[in-house]
Amino acid sequence: MSYQVLARKWRPKTFDSLVGQDAVVRALTHALDANRLHHAYLLTGTRGVGKTTIARILAKALNCEQGVSSSPCGVCSACQQIDAGRFVDYIEMDAASNRGVDEMVQLLEQAAFMPSVGRYKVYMIDEVHQLTAHAFNAMLKTLEEPPAHVKFILATTDPQKILVTVLSRCLQFNLRQVSPMQLTSHLSTVLAGEGIQTDAKALELIARAAGGSVRDALSLLDQAIAHGAGVVQADQVSQMLGTSNLSRMLSMLDALIAGDVSSIREQTHQMASAALSFESALDDLARLAVALQLMQFDVAEGAQEFSSLAEDDAAQLSRLACQCSRPYAQLIYQVVTRARADLRLAPDPAHGFLMAMLRLLTVHPGHGAVAQPMPVVASSVATSVTSAQSAAQKTSAKMDEPAMSHKIPSAHSAPAAQTATSTFEPTDWPQLVDELGLKGMARELAQHSACRSLADGEVVLNLPATHRQLLMPASEQRLAQALTDKFGVQTRVRFDVVEQVGVTAAVLKKEAAEERMNNAVAAIESDPVVQELIDVFDAKLIDGSIRPLVG
Ligand SMILES: [Zn+2]
Repeated sequence: MSYQVLARKWRPKTFDSLVGQDAVVRALTHALDANRLHHAYLLTGTRGVGKTTIARILAKALNCEQGVSSSPCGVCSACQQIDAGRFVDYIEMDAASNRGVDEMVQLLEQAAFMPSVGRYKVYMIDEVHQLTAHAFNAMLKTLEEPPAHVKFILATTDPQKILVTVLSRCLQFNLRQVSPMQLTSHLSTVLAGEGIQTDAKALELIARAAGGSVRDALSLLDQAIAHGAGVVQADQVSQMLGTSNLSRMLSMLDALIAGDVSSIREQTHQMASAALSFESALDDLARLAVALQLMQFDVAEGAQEFSSLAEDDAAQLSRLACQCSRPYAQLIYQVVTRARADLRLAPDPAHGFLMAMLRLLTVHPGHGAVAQPMPVVASSVATSVTSAQSAAQKTSAKMDEPAMSHKIPSAHSAPAAQTATSTFEPTDWPQLVDELGLKGMARELAQHSACRSLADGEVVLNLPATHRQLLMPASEQRLAQALTDKFGVQTRVRFDVVEQVGVTAAVLKKEAAEERMNNAVAAIESDPVVQELIDVFDAKLIDGSIRPLVG
């Protein structure tokens, strides 16, 4: 038996099995069952969303030998002939094809005659806006005084071009693009019916590439089956489509946020050798940035944006949403959409892509400062910059070339695991907090406190009254333990709740973050693309507050 293309084999034969057009199906079903039928329908919608399929089901519903109903039997000779495309009273015409004008006019003029075998003569005219003037007039004549035995189903991808004289005589239905989720589920039904193995990501890729068209999705599936010699898998589908897949871009995003430059380079090389499209990779990154940002406001919203995302991918995205700042999510979107436009200017797409990723590393508030010669600020915030440096040194150990960290001048080089209290002054508290490696509430508590005294065995901290709620036994205990580990001496922590505490790690951290952003901005000021990004942040450089570090 010869191979039948899936789109034809799986063309829905009943309203129930139609994919993604619930509103239209409900209206038509209701009209059929209540026997309140209009004589002309206009179906609008992009290619492959089901216009012809609906017309055929409607023709069966009207002509089924079992009587007019929303569920034609499918087995009588009328139903079967309509399915097979050879029912004399169901006339399908495509105004965009080059079928002879005369023939069309003739077919339309025959509308006046009674049907030969059926109850109704049903005309399906696809791309009706392209009818020739002559054929159009022939149709209009019938539309104006429709005989009871004639039904028109007009379809178009371009409703703007339909004359108002036609629009006013038709009941219009707008067919929606089928959502990726609906497509994925339909494809999975089809593959199960065909007994072909697949994975969810492969179907998601096809569904997205199909752009809301069931027919296109099934044609792509046909190709994927042929390409994969009977199995449909994500790798091979993404190769066939020449697209990157979302998981790949998720791990790119992961590397970006972690500042892992070697992973970024490695992944870019892999994409180039797999001949994946860097354009679609940037598209995917932009989409992910949207979902990422949405997740930062509301996890469910972000997940919905990518309803077809596999569960583990969604979990990864939500984790990344916590690790990345809201402005940085904006930056990712800005840089990748701009890079996509600039791709044609790049020496080659791979380098254009890589450079966009490096640009994102450069402007990352956490990594940017490390990657460039360190500009230093006026003395009042000098401490914050040094503590930022030591923090950056730690977090970006992965992206550091060994030589790189030596270039960074730092007043406090990272201390050994255990350090005596004598090496610290109360003013070193913010830096000390950074080195303690605390998490969660304990970290909050430490960051919002200022150190009053620091001696072997006891650390006295001032906590502002505004942050009194941070004072919880578990957090105090974890902080005490971390200090004990740090100093190698059993250390107790005592808190005084006060009105004014002076400079805390939290305040410095906030300043440092702003400073790091400014530093990054200054270092890349000459880049016109980044210049535009600055606008997004409304960042300002304060004259004289920044000068390059000597040494
Ligand atoms: Zn029937």
